[in-house]
Amino acid sequence: TTFKDLNLDPKILKAVEEAGYTTPTPIQAGAIPAALQGRDVLGIAQTGTGKTASFTLPMINALGRGRARARMPRSLVLAPTRELAAQVAENFDTYSKYTKLTKALLIGGVSFKEQDALIDKGVDVLIATPGRLLDHFERGKLILSDVKIMVVDEADRMLDMGFIPDIEKIFSLTPFTRQTLFFSATMASEIERITNTFLANPEKIEV
Ligand code: AMP
Repeated sequence: TTFKDLNLDPKILKAVEEAGYTTPTPIQAGAIPAALQGRDVLGIAQTGTGKTASFTLPMINALGRGRARARMPRSLVLAPTRELAAQVAENFDTYSKYTKLTKALLIGGVSFKEQDALIDKGVDVLIATPGRLLDHFERGKLILSDVKIMVVDEADRMLDMGFIPDIEKIFSLTPFTRQTLFFSATMASEIERITNTFLANPEKIEV
């Protein structure tokens, strides 16, 4: 398989090719076609396997030409740390460069003011750490009822950091009909429980 065979929007394919990728990694070859069909995905993969593109590319594809309304993001990516969230945001910028999609990075240690201004304008994608996302929600700044696609990255680290209750809360604030792409390096019983609760008939890809 090559990226050309994956049925990605030509704008995304162009950005991927410019990044120098030709062949999808195993997690990408498994997750991208399933996600493009609208399936939920449960990816068991470590960092370094190409998992970031395996959720970012289908997410960008699914958002298409739509536009976010004020305070109503259309997709959500949750990452355990500021650094990881920032990396996802960089990847998003690279792969979405030929689209008009917008994003905000919601992480701690940055003033709310800048983040509020972006949210108020309307962003297609929110990339966030769980605590910061809930801070914004609880301040009444954020409406999650328009979320079509939600990603959880490095769920095993979220478990280690005590974020599972936050993740459950965020899941419950988004529409039941959303598509979910969920990634973890390991499947601890608590992670298994969450995926059984919040993913619908996921395609499981283990690399
Ligand atoms: P990740 O596991 O998402 O952190 O990605 C690990 C590294 O692999 C990153 O530097 C990516 O830019 C790179 N990468 C991801 N997918 C591919 C691919 N299909 N071909 C070549 N490099 C890739």
